[in-house]
Amino acid sequence: MDTREDPPIVTCPHCGANVPAGEFCGLCGAHLATGSPRRSHAYAAVPNQRVAHLAIVSTLFPHLAYRRSGPFRVAIVAGGALVVMLAALHLFAPATVAAVFLLPVLYLMYLYEVEVYEDEPWLVVGATMVLGALLGLAFANVAGVSLSQLDLTGDRESAFVLAALAIPIVAQLLMLAGPAFLYTFRARFREPLDGVTFGAASGLGFSLASSLTAFWPLITGPLVANGSPIDWAIRLTRAGLLIALINACTTALIAAALWLHRYDTRRGRRPIMSSLLGALVIALGVQIMVGVIGAVVGELLVGVVLLAAISIVLLLYVRVVIHDALLVEGAEHGVGPEAPCPECHRMVPTMAFCPACGAARAAGTKQGRARLAGGV
Ligand SMILES: [Zn+2]
Ligand SMILES: [Zn+2]
Repeated sequence: MDTREDPPIVTCPHCGANVPAGEFCGLCGAHLATGSPRRSHAYAAVPNQRVAHLAIVSTLFPHLAYRRSGPFRVAIVAGGALVVMLAALHLFAPATVAAVFLLPVLYLMYLYEVEVYEDEPWLVVGATMVLGALLGLAFANVAGVSLSQLDLTGDRESAFVLAALAIPIVAQLLMLAGPAFLYTFRARFREPLDGVTFGAASGLGFSLASSLTAFWPLITGPLVANGSPIDWAIRLTRAGLLIALINACTTALIAAALWLHRYDTRRGRRPIMSSLLGALVIALGVQIMVGVIGAVVGELLVGVVLLAAISIVLLLYVRVVIHDALLVEGAEHGVGPEAPCPECHRMVPTMAFCPACGAARAAGTKQGRARLAGGV
């Protein structure tokens, strides 16, 4: 017989519901002590971090519990170090391969780790990473040929419009193709975090293929090549890290807003930041900015610094959107039996948010939630 006493019940100052006492309201996620519905000190996916915290893993890999994200963080740092080491040894071709594959491979491992695809792994991985990569491959070839033709004819104006405007916009729309397919034909992937994950995966697949296309002559060239290792390290940071991150973020942003549009039934109350129009303007604006930087900034280092600044702002923006989306998710759930929280492992009533640490259930892994629902 269960001898534990039920936790005392308190009234949430934000949603007004009677909920188990704790740090956070299990229904709406508000911080109970301060009554703050925004709780900007506790990011809803990983509550031991602030919302305004710069992090790649807890932003683009939100389903990972903090305890399980260590290997991913180590892999990103170790991968970066490997790229720099290879570049320092003038092994530019292997350095390039390592740089462009690092994030996409980690993301694929993440998809498997958290089983975001439920029981359709091939469909989801195919429609996001693989389709993104195929479209990236085709588009990089077509865009490359058109650009070099314009360069040959010396038509600088058309070349600028193509490089700074047309290519970035078309590329962004192509990165959205896979997520849009899943949105249309697989309505059961209804959680906004599904949108974030599909968008990021598609953006990373696209970036991988277009970077590989751009670097192909080098990769197939001699193993030890001439050139400045520092130049190469900068160039590979740009392609392997910054462009990949930017593409993952912009696509995740639009997909998150699209998914949220279907999920959030409280029309009209959504902040402009996570609205579909807001996401489209930001994402396309960023892509055009990256295109313009590529077309007009001749100095490699200056371009990379600008892209780094854009990536930082974008990562923070995506985090705010994820945080908002998870807080929206709260509204519809009830109170379940006591079970360990996937994030902090304390025994808590199963609710939309962990009353102890404030983690959103929707940011836990799907198999963990299925086990809970099955009562195992
Ligand atoms: Zn509440
Ligand atoms: Zn918890």
